[in-house]
Amino acid sequence: MFGLMGKILRVNLTDKNISEERIPEEVAKKFLGGRGIASKYLFDEVKSGIDPLGPENKLIFMSGLLAGTPSPSAGRYSVVAKSPLTNIWAQSNSGGRWGVDLKHSGFDGIIFEGISEKPVYLVIDDGQAEIRDADDLWGKNVTETTGVLKEKLGNKFNVAAIGTAGENLVKYAAIMNDIHRAAGRCGLGAVMGSKRLKAIAVNGTMEIKIADKKTFQEISKKQYELLGENILGAGLQGYGTTLVLDIVNVCGGLPTRNWQTGVCSFAEDINGESLSEKVLVDAVGCFACPIKCGRRTEIKKGPYTGEKGEGPEYETVAIFGAMCDNSNLEAITMANYLCNDYGLDTISCGSTIAFTMECFEKGILKTEDTGGMEISFGNSDAIIELVHRIAKREGVGDLLAEGTRIMAQRLGQGSERFAMHVKGLELPAYDSRAAKITGLAFATANRGGDHVTGYVQGPTFLASPFLVIEESEIEDPLKENPAETKVVKDLEDALTVFDAVGSCKFMGMASDAQEISEIIAAVTGWKFEVEDFRKIGERIYNLERAFNVREGLTRAEDTLPKRLLEEPLPEGPAEGNVNNLGILLDPYYEFRGWDKTTGKPTPEKLRELGLENVIKQIYGSKEQ
Ligand code: SF4
Repeated sequence: MFGLMGKILRVNLTDKNISEERIPEEVAKKFLGGRGIASKYLFDEVKSGIDPLGPENKLIFMSGLLAGTPSPSAGRYSVVAKSPLTNIWAQSNSGGRWGVDLKHSGFDGIIFEGISEKPVYLVIDDGQAEIRDADDLWGKNVTETTGVLKEKLGNKFNVAAIGTAGENLVKYAAIMNDIHRAAGRCGLGAVMGSKRLKAIAVNGTMEIKIADKKTFQEISKKQYELLGENILGAGLQGYGTTLVLDIVNVCGGLPTRNWQTGVCSFAEDINGESLSEKVLVDAVGCFACPIKCGRRTEIKKGPYTGEKGEGPEYETVAIFGAMCDNSNLEAITMANYLCNDYGLDTISCGSTIAFTMECFEKGILKTEDTGGMEISFGNSDAIIELVHRIAKREGVGDLLAEGTRIMAQRLGQGSERFAMHVKGLELPAYDSRAAKITGLAFATANRGGDHVTGYVQGPTFLASPFLVIEESEIEDPLKENPAETKVVKDLEDALTVFDAVGSCKFMGMASDAQEISEIIAAVTGWKFEVEDFRKIGERIYNLERAFNVREGLTRAEDTLPKRLLEEPLPEGPAEGNVNNLGILLDPYYEFRGWDKTTGKPTPEKLRELGLENVIKQIYGSKEQ
């Protein structure tokens, strides 16, 4: 096979059996790689109703089809499992270069099954895999674990690992690779911890074959040039993803004080410029990426002076900053370092802390519940202390480690109203009351409330009347427009393909479906056209939806927190706005080919996508 190595490794952690399997070419052609192939195996092999932290869950790592080729920014891998945070399909993907090294080691992916009795790690060295004892690593965080493994195995090995948060089954624990890069969302680090799998170290020199090198090089060169010229790309290199903070704030959509308002009065203290002045050392990038949106940083003042690391990114700044009403950029940066080292998703972690702060403000949580801590908005010391306690599940941290949805269920007293999650996944930092179509994307995303499934906040915020942007598919971000639901569907399908091929979503700045299709054709040697690109994205997306339907998900779960539906924004350009999903869901379902009553993909749609085997699974035998 070209592009892919054509092989996966199956590792049973219960009986320690390791086997190799070929990926059938028809599976590769239908699902490409990364998120696509991983979701196919998950759907086929994981039964509905299982415990995400039990032995029947599978943890599937899969590199993208283009990972390891010099295609710009295409070095990503996906991790897929059933989520312990949401209890539905989960996927998270990460850059750096671990996914590339996995592929060079001889495998496109790894399927972990069962549960090991004792802590272990997996080593793959040029096609040879071995499970080793990890007793000495258990209890260590990501930086130390990576350092110890590199010392033992050699610097050429690249490591993906969990920290103590994953070991302690924090429901939003992350898997970290290259020390600072996170497969952060949905708690896949907890699934890894439940299997007592501490780390995966990979090394290899195997060649990734390209069918038509000349065409591939021509397209890649053009993409590098386009990325070099792109103004947004230059902005990302200059300021990282925090570039967007001022834009979102000026549109009145920067969630502040746990989404009580969309206007942050201290945005200039935490924006991209401020980050550059206060903590930036250097811009860093993932494998083969000319954009370099990553930030190498160092804290230069206050109690954390001298601490070094990477980040924070936009979401982390917005959530540990505006959402927690905290203007202390050094504390935000420190919270980010701690999350990376413990292996915690910064979005869910910061959001859960912001929710806790509002509970404290409203008297739902009191100092006697918090071990004497004043968890009030703006208390940066409390934020840092809570990150430690969450990762260790100490005191009140044990409750926060369950995530916002479970916290609200346990605390009650009306807190469900401002628990800002969809399907259990804490929302990213874009207030959908100021960018209406974004609310639909949050409500329907397969992994729960999420910003990168459809990335619709990009065109939506850029179309704001307060900004001067010439082209956008969104007419007026402050109004629900049923016709624009097709934009959500199309973006979701397209970005699903990006995840399958392992391209960063920022590549959308330099290529369209036509170019990605041409590059897939050049790498694989398959006849591959835009129509295939669209169909594959839609196929994968519907398969993931079917996984969720099989878990019991219905239309009723495609919704938003009550705060967004019922509490008007109190100030700013979007003042008075709430989300009205009612007029968006039906047209979106229609574009998707989903039943409007149940939310299931219809049998006709599944047949059209070549997913006949799924019909029986979600309809029973009568629809065969
Ligand atoms: S744009 Fe940023 S996240 Fe994407 S590949 Fe480049 S450095 Fe990584």
